[in-house]
Amino acid sequence: MRIFDPHIHMTSRTTDDYARMHDAGVRAVVEPAFWLGQPRTNVGSFLDYFDSLLGWEPYRAAQHGIRHLCALALNPKEANDPRCLPVLDELPRYLLKESVVAVGEVGYDSMTPAEDKAFEAQLAMAVEHDLPVLVHTPHRDKAAGTRRTLDVVKGLPPERVLIDHLNEVTVGMVADSGCWMGFSIYPDTKMDPGRMVAILKEYGTERVLVNSAADWGRSDPLRTRAVGEAMLASGFTSAQVTQVLWDNPVAFYHADVEGPDLGDDYAGNTIKRGG
Ligand SMILES: [Zn+2]
Repeated sequence: MRIFDPHIHMTSRTTDDYARMHDAGVRAVVEPAFWLGQPRTNVGSFLDYFDSLLGWEPYRAAQHGIRHLCALALNPKEANDPRCLPVLDELPRYLLKESVVAVGEVGYDSMTPAEDKAFEAQLAMAVEHDLPVLVHTPHRDKAAGTRRTLDVVKGLPPERVLIDHLNEVTVGMVADSGCWMGFSIYPDTKMDPGRMVAILKEYGTERVLVNSAADWGRSDPLRTRAVGEAMLASGFTSAQVTQVLWDNPVAFYHADVEGPDLGDDYAGNTIKRGG
């Protein structure tokens, strides 16, 4: 089973996780920029983080045969802190880097006016840089948040937008929108492999991305593999598993995952974004 985890925060994970992920079949990941738990107080804090997603983390992943790509953005939560907003001026030069395959994660946390502003500004950046967008949906008031999110992204081509953290309540409206549907599989909350298989049976395997969204909270970087196994056990073919766990993320991110292994070049120059 070859797996591409399209949303995982390896910054918060151990090197043992990389080893276990490789053993489970994970060969590529996208790490979106997010809230680190400890609030940032200045722009430099973002820039060091972005540099780590472009240099250190791909290097660490490559030691375990995993290709590391990233999405960069000001996350929804910190869009509410004026000390963080100047990072929006720095983002455009980072979006030119070859291993940056998307803008993200953007979207809503508490649906404030400040979040609106940062969301819109970063959607415009995505259009300008011809990058897809990874959109986080809020965990509270998810249905209203997802509906409002779909309104905001309406101006973009739907095939360039991934609406993430969906569940049974929100999948239908995103399926109708033409956007990509993302599902985060957690050990004990939100989606689990069984519920994911039921959604795949109802909605099919097109435009669906399955991720572990593993981070500093209770989460499991091997949940993607668990979904693949649950799909096989319930009668999906291995080609369908490959479509969901590999082909779909490659297609959404236009990711070049076939190139030479990374890792010797710390500056990240060997990492390519495909067309
Ligand atoms: Zn995330």
